[in-house]
Amino acid sequence: MVSLDSVKASVDGASILDIHTHLYQPSFGMMLSGIDELLTYHYLICEVMRVAPLTPNDFNVMPKSKQADLIWEYLFVRNNPISEATTGVLTVLKAFGLNPNSTDLAEAREFFREARANMDQYVSVVLKMAGVKSLVMTNDPFDTNEIAHWQGRSEMDPRFLAALRIDPILNSWHDAASKLHDRGYQTYGSIDEESLGEVRRFLVDWIKIMHPKYMAVSLPPSFAFPEHSARNEVLAKAVLPVCEEYGLPFAMMIGVNKRVHPELIEAGDSVGLSDMTAIERLCHAFPGNRFMVTVLARENQHGLCVAARKFANLLPFGCWWFMNNPSLVEETTTMRLEMLGTTFVPQHSDARVLEQLIYKWKHSRRDIAASLFGRYEVSPRNVTQEQVDRDVALLMHDNAASWIKA
Ligand SMILES: [Zn+2]
Repeated sequence: MVSLDSVKASVDGASILDIHTHLYQPSFGMMLSGIDELLTYHYLICEVMRVAPLTPNDFNVMPKSKQADLIWEYLFVRNNPISEATTGVLTVLKAFGLNPNSTDLAEAREFFREARANMDQYVSVVLKMAGVKSLVMTNDPFDTNEIAHWQGRSEMDPRFLAALRIDPILNSWHDAASKLHDRGYQTYGSIDEESLGEVRRFLVDWIKIMHPKYMAVSLPPSFAFPEHSARNEVLAKAVLPVCEEYGLPFAMMIGVNKRVHPELIEAGDSVGLSDMTAIERLCHAFPGNRFMVTVLARENQHGLCVAARKFANLLPFGCWWFMNNPSLVEETTTMRLEMLGTTFVPQHSDARVLEQLIYKWKHSRRDIAASLFGRYEVSPRNVTQEQVDRDVALLMHDNAASWIKA
């Protein structure tokens, strides 16, 4: 019988394919990193608002370094940083040999400033520390900064894979149609055959530019299928046919209630319960498509597992955002192992700041190893180390690689 320590060692040693991040290859010049970015992560902005005597609007007008100082003072000095997001910052500091008990940020700022001086080399160091072999970016063809990089044809870094993110087309059709129209596509407010054809042409144009590994969207809890809506028309008649033709999975991240506290901006998004029967109907109606799904509500995890048992063209992935807490990662991973064996992707980092790869993967590896060991412990079989290593490779890398053909 393998021990918990040997399962941990196998998971700790595994190379990772990180299937969803908000990081960019260094040549784009858009990579966030360093202590100020780590501390002003939106997870920590909502936490500081619970303890610091200022309003979101007061906070928003402060320069970033002052915001970081305030967050350090209130969440790390005046209070003990025991939340997952604060612990994550400490894990990063410790990994670099920096003092997690420091009362100010001088040492950390100096360290990251020097490290970032050679960004190419620093990115390699961080990926190695995190054990990440390759990662998928989130690439927005509506973002003017990104458009410039893609059209400038920067040479692609093989560790950074593209994902074509298409939220406006599915979540704000009128706005997207007018933006596409400005870019030479004959899209109009009403959805007719011509507009749908032009959306397909836009998607194909960007597939040829980005070579994405999948298309992706974030959806509200109200997402339904089928329904009479612009979203459903565009999904069924433009997005999914193009995904099928180009062999791309379609990734759906479902359950975010945007801006329930608008003054908090990105930190002001919340969660809602979604209807997993919509996923089942999509998987059934489009058997030639492959769907990658992650859900934000804890209460939706079970329904997603059941749906994946019914449809082999559905891949549950990751413990997203409010799910990315150790107790929930372990609970969710255990449920998925019990219901799906090894046929899922347990985690993605969702990292927005480079160094977050270090803590998000260090913490997730620990929780995934614990869940996996729990299944071996109850097996009447004498599970061998080779079998453990095979399971770990599937979960941490190979399932993702075969789904996105990486
Ligand atoms: Zn994300």
